[in-house]
Amino acid sequence: MPAFDVLVVGAGPVGAAFALALAQAPAAAGLRIGLVETAEPPTLADTRVLEPRALAVSSRNRRFLAGLGAWPEALARRACPYHSMEVWDRRSSGHVRFDCAEIHQPRLGDIVGQPALVAALIEALRAQPAVELLCPAAVTAIARLPGGGFGVELGGRRIETRLLIAADGPDSRVRTHFEIPTDRWDPDQQALVAVLETELGHGHCARQWFAPSGPLAFLPLAGDGHQVAIVWSQDRERADRLGALASDALARELEIASEGALGGVSLAGEHRLIPLRQHHAGCYWLRGLALLGDAAHVVHPLAGQGVNLGLADAEVLAGELASALAAGLDLDDPEPLKRYQRRRRPENLAMLAAMRGFKTLFAETRLPVALLRAAGMAAFDRAEPLKRWVMRMAGAA
Ligand SMILES: Cc1cc2nc3c(=O)[nH]c(=O)nc-3n(C[C@H](O)[C@H](O)[C@H](O)COP(=O)(O)OP(=O)(O)OC[C@H]3O[C@@H](n4cnc5c(N)ncnc54)[C@H](O)[C@@H]3O)c2cc1C
Repeated sequence: MPAFDVLVVGAGPVGAAFALALAQAPAAAGLRIGLVETAEPPTLADTRVLEPRALAVSSRNRRFLAGLGAWPEALARRACPYHSMEVWDRRSSGHVRFDCAEIHQPRLGDIVGQPALVAALIEALRAQPAVELLCPAAVTAIARLPGGGFGVELGGRRIETRLLIAADGPDSRVRTHFEIPTDRWDPDQQALVAVLETELGHGHCARQWFAPSGPLAFLPLAGDGHQVAIVWSQDRERADRLGALASDALARELEIASEGALGGVSLAGEHRLIPLRQHHAGCYWLRGLALLGDAAHVVHPLAGQGVNLGLADAEVLAGELASALAAGLDLDDPEPLKRYQRRRRPENLAMLAAMRGFKTLFAETRLPVALLRAAGMAAFDRAEPLKRWVMRMAGAA
């Protein structure tokens, strides 16, 4: 029966980054790391530049990934740096602009397709002899072993591990198996995602419009400067109606919702709906087990922070485990897992609370609230130190 020291379930961006970070830590030399993934991982050559499932990766996380060798030139060519971000309130004159020049940085972050990011991580992992990729394979059952560690069923195959890492996304089977209580908030929305061709160039600016029924984001894509990925979060029924529209009719709706900022738009390829939710696991660890990324917390995409929080989890947990190993602690010692939770929970919780507050604030249509919102946004836009702090908190520096 193959035995691993660490078994990571889920080779999404977070699980793959964690496995890579741990494999490269000098203190983890000699560990056997397994990475299980249901889907066949993509290769960079197969991924699209014009990818509707696009992520805004902060500069801080781009540096983390580059340090792991997971931001190669082939990925950089598929990524679009964005230098500014503009936010409008459609029910008032509220407007805020963030610019990388204000924090003396060359960019605020990069927009990159999720498949390309995963492919770059997998390519870097393939060069790590300590890591075995177990895919396509799915975890179907887990049992705690009497002497510590777990027996894990992958379909008909059984493997053992001392430490189990759940990075298996929002519907985490591992989290469910251990019955970890999860605080849930249903925003009752779906996100419509698509790629648009735009008449005017995006100018490396990420744009977002807040309306009572939900926010619309235009994320600039690499290409000739006239393509954006959209994330249009809408109340469930309205999203169903929009999703059922023919491409031309949907494009007209998008021109209205974006106030014609990029002129006429047309859809490049398919559009699809993704149900949105938000949840937070009551704890991130049990003896011999840790939860990472969306398995631990799912945040509304309006701030583009989900993968950024998850990559920070991966970096912190790999670092804590490496420090514990260097100090001679056992791999299943609870101390590094406790420290990981202490370091990551407050930031994740704050982001979840902020997204809930944003959704409620911008859903409010009463005139006094809309006026207050506009005044608040105008004051915020003038408050340079506060804006610089927000940009730094979002990992832009
Ligand atoms: C519309 C939308 C837009 C978004 N935009 C942004 C953005 O701009 N910026 C940002 O930071 N975040 C964004 N996010 C959030 C981001 O996509 C997630 O936070 C991120 O994908 C989480 O990564 P993960 O690796 O934790 O989970 P996932 O990406 O869900 O990966 C989990 C992996 O586990 C695998 N798996 C599941 N079950 C099993 C099993 N039993 N056995 C083996 N493998 C399994 C899955 O196949 C998958 O590959 C967005 C989300 C949505 C819905």
